[in-house]
Amino acid sequence: MLAVEEIKKSYKDRQALAGVSLGAAAGECVAILGPNGAGKSTLFAILAGLRDADSGRILYKGKEVSADEPALRLALGVVFQSPSLDGLLSAQENLVLGAGLFGMSKAQAKPRAAELLLLMELSERAKDRVDTFSGGMKRRLELARALMHGPKVLLLDEPTSGLDEGGYRQVWKHLDDLRQREGLTILLVTHRSDEAERCDRALVLDEGKLIAEGTPAELRAQLEGDLLELEGPELASFAAQIESIAGVKAEFTENGLRLRLANGHSMLPKLIDALPDGMVKSVHLRQPTLGDVFVSLTGRSLEAP
Ligand code: ADP
Ligand code: MG
Repeated sequence: MLAVEEIKKSYKDRQALAGVSLGAAAGECVAILGPNGAGKSTLFAILAGLRDADSGRILYKGKEVSADEPALRLALGVVFQSPSLDGLLSAQENLVLGAGLFGMSKAQAKPRAAELLLLMELSERAKDRVDTFSGGMKRRLELARALMHGPKVLLLDEPTSGLDEGGYRQVWKHLDDLRQREGLTILLVTHRSDEAERCDRALVLDEGKLIAEGTPAELRAQLEGDLLELEGPELASFAAQIESIAGVKAEFTENGLRLRLANGHSMLPKLIDALPDGMVKSVHLRQPTLGDVFVSLTGRSLEAP
């Protein structure tokens, strides 16, 4: 549906994108996952037609297009990282105004706005000023605005940044609904591994290059076993003992130790038994996330500033 090939972009002597190729098939949700500074927003701005690449190609439905081609602009719905609603206007006015930029008349825009407000569970607030909305409501309104002209592909830059857990879940519930109802193709950039795991495919971007690609399950399968995190202020002094029981090296964390175990479930009671009472303040056993995959690929964390 939408693809880019060999996109390069530098700012003065800093290379933000070093030749990135990727694509999303019709109806597919693709996440580009990377830490701060990876080049996500730069790639996004190029796809959104706000910035020119130094070199590379954009393809829509298999044909090369220029970034400002009207057919491409009409096919894309874009939600930027920083909110761009007019807080002094109502929800409905924001939608009608946004649609005007795509050549929709008020008469065309009003019913579509009502439909999308209903879909986003914002109908009751249609006439209220947007600066009275919560962060999650604003984000849903931005999704509605991006969909006013009936795009085929939705581009999202950090769609849930700044939202609390409730807002995050609500936005994703609506994104999942939209995919089903409108068969949308979604391409999003994010530094949240849980967000990337909701997509069909994830591409890992680091320092302007793609370093891994696959379904979330395929990427996680690169890391075998479970992660066991033990917390306790004095655990570090028992590291050698813990390592000899577990048979693996321990990694020091802020508050304790982390072990990668073939079978965390059976190892856990043995470790707890071997340690003095009260030594372990908390235990966290989990399967690896895409964040762990990133750490294993780069030695750095996705969340690092
Ligand atoms: P991300 O969205 O993944 O955090 P960005 O695309 O914003 O990454 O940035 C990629 C790199 O390009 C960073 O090193 C950033 O400092 C640099 N950069 C981004 N925008 C500009 C700009 N307008 N001028 C100069 N450097 C920039
Ligand atoms: Mg960004």
